[in-house]
Amino acid sequence: MRTLVNLDGSLVAPSEAKVSVFDRGFLYGDSVYEVIRTYGGRPFELRAHLDRLAHSAGRIALTPRWDADRARAEIDRTLAAARGAEAPDPEAAPWNRGERYIRVVMTRGAGEIGLDPALAVDPLAIVIVQPLSGPPARAYAEGVPAAIVGVRRASTKAVDPSAKTGAHLTHVLAVREARAAGAYEALLLDDAGFVTEGSSSNVFAVSAGRVLTPPLAAGILEGVTRAVVLRLARAAGLPVEEVALRPLDLETADELFITSTVREILPVTRLGDSRVGSGRPGPVTLRLHAAFREAATV
Ligand code: PMP
Repeated sequence: MRTLVNLDGSLVAPSEAKVSVFDRGFLYGDSVYEVIRTYGGRPFELRAHLDRLAHSAGRIALTPRWDADRARAEIDRTLAAARGAEAPDPEAAPWNRGERYIRVVMTRGAGEIGLDPALAVDPLAIVIVQPLSGPPARAYAEGVPAAIVGVRRASTKAVDPSAKTGAHLTHVLAVREARAAGAYEALLLDDAGFVTEGSSSNVFAVSAGRVLTPPLAAGILEGVTRAVVLRLARAAGLPVEEVALRPLDLETADELFITSTVREILPVTRLGDSRVGSGRPGPVTLRLHAAFREAATV
């Protein structure tokens, strides 16, 4: 398996995958994207991802180069061309071995320099396929540290947080702050101090058996994994609440976990300087992850 790039319909090696310095994705983050993963070599929740891509494009008035059918066909073609074995990673979680990471990017295109989107011509479509390198097995067994960072989630009155755009500086700086504090994931608050989401994940707490997560109105991305987890939790009869959370709610929770396409359900066992609950992945987190594993197994 090699990394392969589909650049506007042409399959090229990473070293050949070049875009114009005038592309607005490069200049302004004027793009939308999705991260998708495979199970058994097939994309998981592809329709939900392509729906969200269309939603994101709509929210920023970007007309993607490809429609959903073309995107699906190009993803399939790129996956097929990238097929092949790679050296096994002994640290990898079993469900990540041999699987693919797929990044689909649609930019508004290049054009004369200037912020006005009307200057854009030649919108660009890109698919990157590479080996999936999710968290190692140890991260699932022991949990990871997270930190509530000082960088705040951009206001819901700026770019709609439900749009997955390439403008990521806030989250880049949030990760930088988290890593400086020895944490794996950054959790961001909004301007009023409510919990929103991770830099590239949604966050859940378990308190007294209830599964809690911020509502979409908190100004978060509607995670595809979040939706699967909410569905599985409700199907398992667990009490679920989409509710505004304060840092204290996370600090006093029995369990915390984050969700994302690449991570599935990852236990958070430290928050800042403190242990979360027992300091080990909790029973509700493990139960949900087992249900997720079953749902994702093909
Ligand atoms: N929030 C943000 C800001 C993200 O970037 C991601 C990763 N796409 C998520 C949440 C999780 O979304 P998903 O489960 O669809 O990967």
